[in-house]
Amino acid sequence: MYRLIDTHAHLDEIIEDIDRAVSEAKKAGVVAIMAVGQDYESNLKILQISEKYSGFVYPALGLHPWSLGNTDAKKMSLTLQQIEDNIKKIVAIGEVGLDYDKRVVASADKERQKEAFKLVLELARRYNKALSVHSRYSWKDSFDLVKEYGIKKAVFHWYTGFSSVLREIIAEGYFISATPATEYHDEHRRAVKETPLESLMLETDCPVTYGRENKYMAYPADVGRTLKAVAQIKTVSEKDIAEQTTDNALRFFGLDRQVRVI
Ligand SMILES: [Zn+2]
Repeated sequence: MYRLIDTHAHLDEIIEDIDRAVSEAKKAGVVAIMAVGQDYESNLKILQISEKYSGFVYPALGLHPWSLGNTDAKKMSLTLQQIEDNIKKIVAIGEVGLDYDKRVVASADKERQKEAFKLVLELARRYNKALSVHSRYSWKDSFDLVKEYGIKKAVFHWYTGFSSVLREIIAEGYFISATPATEYHDEHRRAVKETPLESLMLETDCPVTYGRENKYMAYPADVGRTLKAVAQIKTVSEKDIAEQTTDNALRFFGLDRQVRVI
């Protein structure tokens, strides 16, 4: 069993099952979970959960592009204020970003998404916070904005985009994170393969449903599946992948001194 960090988990969506999810994760070797929020209400739950599991669950507060359809100007400023009020408590701002899937664009067009993302980027820049970025079908625009705002730390989670943008992400010192879809999803597998270990972290994006034939709903313990799949694809031992990606996550989220990894 290796020490692992789930760097992107929607724990607010499994709040009824949280005690079991946390204890199963610990049994699987997970030493920390980064819990990401999506909007005002979800962020509130993330704060509660991270308080309850202080020292194990670390909060990131965000404004997901999927939430923009239900976020008016008032709610938007409330959410930004919420992030700012908790800026010392959080290890990152996330989940934030752009999503150009047509259903998402129908609820909040590209311009609106970019406006919201820019407000969040302002905050990240002002407080020098790490970012957990959603970049589905918007890889280049998402990367360009993050870079344009001079963000020092960003992870493009579950990256499935072009290799050309991936090379820019890596060259800029940013990260990508691998999900359990590394087992079977071609674009994600390619990205994981092309990313040096120094630029890689592991996650579950739970409670996403994964699998082709045998579908299952992910919990943070399933970061072990991500580890196995990454080790296979890179033909590097699970031990080496675990050590390097956990070390990356600790430094990325500034937890080197708080999480004991023996
Ligand atoms: Zn997510």
